Amino acid sequence: MSRTLFVTTALPYANGSFHIGHIMEYIQADIWVRSMRMAGHTVHFVGADDTHGAPIMLKAESEGITPQALVARYAAERPSYLDGFHIKFDHWHSTDSPENVVLSQDIYRKLKAADLIETRSIEQFFDPVKGMFLPDRYIKGECPKCHAKDQYGDACEKCGAVFAPTDLIEPYSSLTGAKPVLKSSEHFFFKLSDERCVAFLRDWTAGQNARGVSHLQSEVLAKTLEWLGDNDGTAKLGDWDISRDAPYFGIEIPGAPGKYFYVWLDAPVGYLASLMAYCQKIGLNYDTLLDPEGDTEQIHFIGKDIVYFHALFWPATLRFSGRKTPDQLNVHGFITVNGEKMSKSRGTGISPLRYLELGMDAEWLRYYIAAKLNSRVEDIDFNPDDFLARVNSDLIGKYINIASRAANFISKHFEGQLRYNGDEAVLDAQWLAASDEIRNHLEDREYGRAIREIMAHADTINQGFDTAQPWVLAKTLAQATDAQRDELQDICSRTLAGFKALSVMLTPILPALTERVAKALFGLDRSFVWTDAGVLPTHVAPFKHLMQRVTPEMMGQLFEPPEEAQTPPVAPGGEAIAPTITIDDFAKLDLRVAKIVACEAVEGSHKLLKLTLDVGEGTHRQVFSGIKSAYRPEDLVNRLTVLVANLAPRKMKFGISEGMVLAASHANEDTDPGIYLLDPASGATPGMRIR
Ligand SMILES: [Zn+2]
Repeated sequence: MSRTLFVTTALPYANGSFHIGHIMEYIQADIWVRSMRMAGHTVHFVGADDTHGAPIMLKAESEGITPQALVARYAAERPSYLDGFHIKFDHWHSTDSPENVVLSQDIYRKLKAADLIETRSIEQFFDPVKGMFLPDRYIKGECPKCHAKDQYGDACEKCGAVFAPTDLIEPYSSLTGAKPVLKSSEHFFFKLSDERCVAFLRDWTAGQNARGVSHLQSEVLAKTLEWLGDNDGTAKLGDWDISRDAPYFGIEIPGAPGKYFYVWLDAPVGYLASLMAYCQKIGLNYDTLLDPEGDTEQIHFIGKDIVYFHALFWPATLRFSGRKTPDQLNVHGFITVNGEKMSKSRGTGISPLRYLELGMDAEWLRYYIAAKLNSRVEDIDFNPDDFLARVNSDLIGKYINIASRAANFISKHFEGQLRYNGDEAVLDAQWLAASDEIRNHLEDREYGRAIREIMAHADTINQGFDTAQPWVLAKTLAQATDAQRDELQDICSRTLAGFKALSVMLTPILPALTERVAKALFGLDRSFVWTDAGVLPTHVAPFKHLMQRVTPEMMGQLFEPPEEAQTPPVAPGGEAIAPTITIDDFAKLDLRVAKIVACEAVEGSHKLLKLTLDVGEGTHRQVFSGIKSAYRPEDLVNRLTVLVANLAPRKMKFGISEGMVLAASHANEDTDPGIYLLDPASGATPGMRIR
């Protein structure tokens, strides 16, 4: 039966670029969504930028731009990451959108009507210079326990003590350095401690969806039970402060001027806002889709750090505003690199964009992450050696290799036709059953297990091929009997049928590669769907190269050197060496051997010479160079030198300079004069590239 699924990933906070943790979550969700679609289900997969709150407001202010402009900057770069890693959201939206305002305010009004909103006066630190209430992270001071200086307002990084900002000794505002003052203000609370909420949450957190799948993973449920308190009717849940005072970048609370929703109130509502905007775009009825009594399954993929918001606040706000509650929360752990938390200063961070810019295949990362993921809330580790081994030995050595081995025999000896000895229905059924197994593992988010089984099938196929030794038969094919020819065709056909089935199983994980397989090798006009696993291929096109291997050099370049190592050492000449660049940075420079065919002084300039250069282009270039103090024009004619040939032309007072010639000089020309034009050794000719 076809299902309708509404799937989301956590909304990234729009004050920075995506990091590898975001990409991991999107890959996890994207694999799941693709597998569901391959089974014929309808999936609406949406995301959005989480845009509100003090950090974005203050960052924009420090850059002298509006919060909207800051958010727009990060929104603009999202597609290069998402497209780059084949992550296919149906729609990407923003919490700073009209849909989100309407939905958030409506949820609030319904909660208020249900008598679940309460106002209370609370005392909070206020920065008198900035004129705003300070979030905990903007208050610093001395730890009341170990007396470490400059600790944040919620916890001490030195001794680990947890406290309130008012406990800090000599607190100060990290925005202005001012001593904050305590000031009271009216705040709005969602009454999570209300017995109706507690009863609902006890029920929901331990509950199952209509398909018999638990709303929460067991370790997540255990955590929520801790928060909900012992089952003795005395809940430990506190009410939730959902308001912030102006100035704040957010959504205004209806009927309360100067009061805004705390960013975490409207952030998850962004899931609904994104779906609503998408429905409007494609002409779907949003209300029908999310009817509380309807069949749509609402599924959220999130990280373990935001469970409290998603397992307690979110279902409760949905429930008591008369909305559909989530059917499943899929929580994952963090990604570490070499067993450590990612850190730029230690050089252990992986930039997803750098990965793509290095020309590394996005599907290597999809495969590697899938191989590491399971359905539990466990951290996964990115290990470069492990990455290299899994991609080169498993993905390429075992899987891709199958096609390259068998397809050539079929192309060469059987005009691409496949034929099987024995009962084809048995073989069909065998691969369909195997792919069903994989489909189930993927639905259960047991991706690592799915990949282990797929690789075990690959081993079996390769062993079968090795045992039959078709290359021996192929050598003597001219003298072979019909039975021997049949045998060769059969083993190659079986091998390729296996390859096709494995390709179907890998399609959610490797969508681009398997689409090439489907189209180029097996002649389909579309990507694989699950049922393709049970259809034996009847012909195969000649094998084409499918995927390259990872090289250790790529892995080396992926990791930027630690920041300490980038501190430039001082050269004997007194000028520091510039920060390290990669070979790719260098390759951006196009340096060419140039012949100076004419040279003259520039009237009105005491520094410049005008050079006419032959760079082997058939025409000449004009370049101005500040070398007049060192050379007489006539001495330079017919000399060779080095030109930066792809420097953007520069309009100067005396004309346009079409490049730059290279010369050596001291850091300070006034105290250490001397300019030395570079020239290549004899034999070099105009136009040669320097590399
Ligand atoms: Zn301390």
